[in-house]
Amino acid sequence: MDETSTERSLLAQWADLLFPRNCAGCGEPDVTLCNSCAREFAGPPREVSGRAPYLQRVLPIFGEERYESLFPVYALAEYAGFVAQAIIRWKNTVDSELNTVMRQLVAQGAARIFEEGMSGPLTIVPAPSRFQRIHDGRFVAGVIAEGVADGARQAGISAVVARPLRSASRYTSAGIVSRRSRASRITARNRVQIGGNILLVDDVLTTGATLVGAARALASCEGKVAGAFVTAVAQDPRAITGISVPKSLPVVYHERYKLQDSGCENTR
Ligand SMILES: [Zn+2]
Repeated sequence: MDETSTERSLLAQWADLLFPRNCAGCGEPDVTLCNSCAREFAGPPREVSGRAPYLQRVLPIFGEERYESLFPVYALAEYAGFVAQAIIRWKNTVDSELNTVMRQLVAQGAARIFEEGMSGPLTIVPAPSRFQRIHDGRFVAGVIAEGVADGARQAGISAVVARPLRSASRYTSAGIVSRRSRASRITARNRVQIGGNILLVDDVLTTGATLVGAARALASCEGKVAGAFVTAVAQDPRAITGISVPKSLPVVYHERYKLQDSGCENTR
């Protein structure tokens, strides 16, 4: 053990004395994430895009109401109970040990979607976070992206992580910014070009607005959004009474950004 890692482990022991560890999910003492909570994230990943209204496109079939998803979204778990607790804790603390545990769980789960046919080479792109979160080291989508890349490599697929997306929401005042309008502020850095398939990554899927905003921002690149990966999927917002969510995005939105099967197509 070299000097730096000795110092680091001493520091970790100090931190454990000062802040006793408990499971991020259920609170069981002396573990980062207990076996039972870890199993909740073990997958297998399920395709859940149909539960996100903003990912739905209305099919132009006369006299019928049929929808299709813009791209598949794979989720490891349901966003509820201890899973939700663990994700909330993960997003709100700077905990390198929890980052390591979650990255390994994501890698194991993600490896299975590549075994089932998603092909490479892949560019893994995390949904953007507010500047402050990245600054604080709490950028969980970035950790998930690294985990997914690990999983792809385990399945023999070449994968790199790129972070071309920016969220402009930091420019807004502290008032309420709806998910929809926050998503519309996602932008890609100028002159970014991404070849091959793009796999978007986020922590939780709710309406799908963030993923659509990210895909739209990537429409200026040459890659194709092949799908998305999230750690957990929330209850379909259309099933919650008292919340008004459209069944799908307005057709005009898809028309404008042409998120077609041919890949990212810049129609602006
Ligand atoms: Zn637990």
